[in-house]
Amino acid sequence: MNFSDFNLKDTIQQAITDAGFKEPSPVQKDAIPLILEGNDIIAQAQTGTGKTAAFGLPIMNMMKADGSVEGLVIVPTRELAMQVSDELFRFGKLSNLKTATVYGGTAYTRQIDRVKQASIVVATPGRLQDLLMSGKIKINPQFVVLDEADEMLDMGFLDEIKNIFTFLPKERQTLMFSATMPNAIRKLAQQILKDPKTIAITKSESTNENITQNYYVVQERERDDALVRLIDYKNPDKCIIFCRMKKEVDRLVSHLTSQGFKVSGLHGDMEQRQREVTIRAFKQGGVDIFVATDVAARGLDVNDVTHVFNYHIPFDSESYVHRIGRTGRAGKTGEAITLVTPSELRTIKRIEKDVGTTMATQVIPTRQEVQNSKSDELIAKIAGTQVTQRAIDLVKTLQHDIDIVTISHLLASMIQEEQNIKGKDSIGLGLEEIELLIQRAVQSRGNDRNRNGNGRRRRSGGNGGGNRSGGREGRNRDGHRGSRNSSSRQRD
Ligand code: AMP
Repeated sequence: MNFSDFNLKDTIQQAITDAGFKEPSPVQKDAIPLILEGNDIIAQAQTGTGKTAAFGLPIMNMMKADGSVEGLVIVPTRELAMQVSDELFRFGKLSNLKTATVYGGTAYTRQIDRVKQASIVVATPGRLQDLLMSGKIKINPQFVVLDEADEMLDMGFLDEIKNIFTFLPKERQTLMFSATMPNAIRKLAQQILKDPKTIAITKSESTNENITQNYYVVQERERDDALVRLIDYKNPDKCIIFCRMKKEVDRLVSHLTSQGFKVSGLHGDMEQRQREVTIRAFKQGGVDIFVATDVAARGLDVNDVTHVFNYHIPFDSESYVHRIGRTGRAGKTGEAITLVTPSELRTIKRIEKDVGTTMATQVIPTRQEVQNSKSDELIAKIAGTQVTQRAIDLVKTLQHDIDIVTISHLLASMIQEEQNIKGKDSIGLGLEEIELLIQRAVQSRGNDRNRNGNGRRRRSGGNGGGNRSGGREGRNRDGHRGSRNSSSRQRD
C-alpha cells in the first residue's frame, strides 16, 4: 500500500514525500481511511508507530485553512506538544495550515497570539483549560485528538479533559490514541466519542517487534556492577536507564560519571529550560546515557536510542511498555534490558503475561568475556583503519630506540588500557539458578492461589505444578546447578 492510495491533496502528498515516508505504517493504514470517512476512532498505538501522521494527515487533508482553529490535539507533556507540533508543521506548511503550541510554564501572550493565527492547536491539558476558562481563547475545532490518553489519565488530567470538552463543539470528529486500554480509558471513550471505530492491535503487537527484550537476575547489591558491565558489553550508542526514584537517578548519574561515561539525569524537579538543554545534549550526542524516572521520560522522543535499561523493574506493566518503547523507534531495532532480583522474578513473569510478550533470560558476561569481545572489536577496528602520514612519522621516530614488534605491543597495550573492564569477574546468577528460581516462583504462585481458596485451581495448580517443578529441579541438580562456567551461559 502507498500513501497515494489515500488520495490526499497534492500539498499533503508532497509533504509526505518531502518527509521521506515511503509507505504507511500499520496504524496509518488502518486509521487514515477511517478518519477520512468521518469516523470517530479509538486506536491503540504507542509513540514511534507513526501515530502523529496517522491522525495529522487525514485531518489536515480535510481542513479548509480558513484562518480559524479547525483542529485541537491534546497531549500529556510539553515535550510531546512540541514534538507533535513540529511533525504537524511539516505536513501542513504547503497547505498553509499553521500550528500553535500551548503549554504551561511560559508566558501566555505569545501563545494566545499564535492560537489566533493557527489552524491547529497542540496543547497540554492544564494550560488549555486555563485559557478556555478565562476566555483568553475561543476555539471551535471540528477535529479533536486526544494523544497518549492513558498517560494523561495517569498524570491525573481526567477532570481537566472532561472540563475542556465542555468548551468544545458537540458536532466534531474525535480521535483517541492510547498505548494501553485500561478501563478508565474505555469509560472516557464512551463519554467523548460517537460510535467510534476501534483500531485493535493484538496483544503480541502491543510491544514493538523491533525490540529485543532480555532480563538478567542479580542480587540487590549487584545492580550497579551489573549495569556497568552490561553497558561495557553492549556498547550502546545512546541509552536510557530507568529508575523508580529521583534520588536513585542522582546517585546513578554520579556513579556512572565516575566510571567515565557521558551521562545526564532527567527527573520531574528540573526546570523546563534545564530539561530542554539536557534533552538537546542527548539528541545531539553530547551525552550518551540518560538516567530518568518514568514521569520525567514521558513524551521523550529521541529516535536513535539503541538500548533501554530498567535498573529497577517498573511499578506496573503499562510503564514497562512505555519505557521500552523509547527504543526500536521509526523502524530501527532496539534492546530492552531489565535487571531483576530473585524475589522480583514473579513480577517479571506477570509483566510478560500482561503485556503478551516474552523476555529472554540472559546471564551477565564475565569480565573476561567482555574483554574478549572488546579485543574482537579492536581487531576489526584496526583492520579497517586508514594509515596516516602522522602515524608513519611517529613509528619512524619510535624506531630509533625500540624495535617494531615491541612498538606494536606497546601501542596495543595502550589502547587496551583504555578499555580495561572493571569490577568482579562474575556478576549475577547463572542460567540453571535462574531456571530453578522461576520454577519456584511459578510453584509459589500456585500455592498462593490455593490459599485464596479456588478449589479447581488448587488441584491442578498444586499437583500439576508441584510435579512439573519437582522434575525440573531434579534435572537442574543433575546438571551443574549454579555452575558458572561460560559454556553454560547463554550469550545474546
Ligand atoms: P510517532 O509515532 O508519530 O511519534 O512517529 C515516530 C517517528 O516515525 C517520527 O519521527 C515520524 O516522522 C516517523 N514516521 C511516521 N510515519 C512514518 C512512515 N510512514 N514512514 C517513515 N517514518 C515515519
